[in-house]
Amino acid sequence: MGHHRIVFLGPPGSGKGTAAMELSAALQVPHVSTGEMFREAIRRGGPLAETAKGFIDKGQLVPDEITVQIVRLWLDERGRERGFIFDGFPRTLAQAEAFERLLAERNLPLTAVLLLDVSEEEILERILGRLSCEKCGALYHVTRVRPKLEGVCDKCGGKLIKRADDTEETVRERLRWYEQLTMDVVRYYERQGLLTRVDGNGIKDHAVEKVMVLFGLVSRRARAS
Ligand code: ADP
Ligand code: ZN
Repeated sequence: MGHHRIVFLGPPGSGKGTAAMELSAALQVPHVSTGEMFREAIRRGGPLAETAKGFIDKGQLVPDEITVQIVRLWLDERGRERGFIFDGFPRTLAQAEAFERLLAERNLPLTAVLLLDVSEEEILERILGRLSCEKCGALYHVTRVRPKLEGVCDKCGGKLIKRADDTEETVRERLRWYEQLTMDVVRYYERQGLLTRVDGNGIKDHAVEKVMVLFGLVSRRARAS
């Protein structure tokens, strides 16, 4: 079976993280989130991480050179294993072009690019209530996806925290950056004929199911019910 090398695009808070994780579990290919890579680097510390943190806490994008660097390291360590699903990368045209070169040099062409389309009002409501597990990164929502026990991760028992950059101000800032920069990435992949759009408004599970159907899969939740 051929490897899946997928890029998952969508505005912050569109639910692409959850959908990408479900797809990753179903296809059995690693889920690679640059945001998560940065947060992990920040937890470990170091000069590069400090620089990245300054941008992240302001809701701004980390500079392309640092971001491409962290992705290159990942590709060289694990890129050949079983494919990948990139979530949150590339976010600028420069990143998309640099990524294309990295992949071409390693003979690892993308097999699909997915865009999860969600409106701005829906996004604000989702992000402002978002909680994530300190230990495993699982996502919850104060009203929509509540854990069984308040403040505790269902999956690993870790503590649920609100990300420092999940405030209305930084969310609006991130959406502005998304509009300005990531739309170029969308058009870039559209021109290459790689892009598939998925309507992600409304119930998140529906978007996940639409994504699964694209790959001939059934989502875990649909199977369970
Ligand atoms: P969100 O999807 O809510 O923005 P992420 O976890 O994907 O959350 O990213 C958190 C932060 O990490 C971003 O706001 C940005 O500052 C930084 N980041 C993540 N991916 C990239 C990227 N590809 N380019 C630049 N900055 C990034
Ligand atoms: Zn957890």
